[in-house]
Amino acid sequence: MTDKDFLKQAKKYSEPFCITDGKKFKLKQIDPAETLGLSAEDKLKAKDALECGVELLTKLQDKLYAHDRWAVLLIFQAMDAAGKDGAIKHVMSGVNPQGCEVTSFKAPSAEELDHDYLWRCAKRLPERGRIGVFNRSYYEETLVVRVHPEYLASQRLPDTQTKKRAKQDGQKDFWKQRFDDINNFERYLTNNGIVILKFFLHVSKEEQEQRFLARIDDPAKNWKFSMKDVNEREHWDDYMHAYEQTVRHTATEYAPWYVVPADAKWFTRLVVASAIVQRLSALDLSYPKLSTDELEELQAAKQALLAASDTTN
Ligand code: ATP
Ligand code: MG
Repeated sequence: MTDKDFLKQAKKYSEPFCITDGKKFKLKQIDPAETLGLSAEDKLKAKDALECGVELLTKLQDKLYAHDRWAVLLIFQAMDAAGKDGAIKHVMSGVNPQGCEVTSFKAPSAEELDHDYLWRCAKRLPERGRIGVFNRSYYEETLVVRVHPEYLASQRLPDTQTKKRAKQDGQKDFWKQRFDDINNFERYLTNNGIVILKFFLHVSKEEQEQRFLARIDDPAKNWKFSMKDVNEREHWDDYMHAYEQTVRHTATEYAPWYVVPADAKWFTRLVVASAIVQRLSALDLSYPKLSTDELEELQAAKQALLAASDTTN
């Protein structure tokens, strides 16, 4: 498959899941088991296509690095066992580690809790020319923190920002404020040349159960199993509500959400690779062109090198 063929296909696989205006978004619009007509027999074909996508991403990253104007931020959010780690590992497998940094955000430390919630993420933003991957992100602030209000309490925000405000405006407005702040932050990053793509890997509750069972039954996967993850299933509906609200309020033209079906891992990876490649290939990336003076300097350097080797040989 040529790069051009892959790009054509990339549009087909990424666009149906791309949300740029969340106002009317409903989670039930996207079936976690969706594969756009590809069946289990097409799995090998999908894997071949993914390989082409990974190769193309390698080329685009090389250009992104040399061009040194844009940075790319990829955000991954999902319920446990939805395949974040696998998607990152496979899609980024061809990327030069020098131009890429992955950060996993866990429950905040005491030091992190002493700061505003964007602080720890702002420190890990990609430099110009690089790709930054956030494995979880500031979006946990409208997901796990919304589902578990005790996390909000541990942030020790002034009462005027939480309780009183909640009483005056209704609890909803606190989250609306967070969405507005996140949108403004992402607008600011975009204005600074940071291209943002957000992926919600949407797995079904049934498939998650199967994956947890596999983690218990397969000794090689035992280390991935956590009782805490199983307990979180009790809050499944709250999480889905929080995800839906988050996409509704923070899917924008400049920082779209991709709600990616995640019951078939091979399909998830194809969609993620397609979205990234499509976005990067739409940027005005080019290798820097040397000026006439710089080209002349290169020729002079070549002559000097050759002259020096003539005298030493
Ligand atoms: P894996 O399980 O595949 O290793 P993971 O991303 O689930 O990856 P864990 O260490 O299991 O990593 O979980 C991180 C936990 O940290 C998640 O439960 C997440 O909800 C929680 N977390 C992340 N950010 C915040 C936050 N701002 N406030 C509270 N909890 C958070
Ligand atoms: Mg986990």
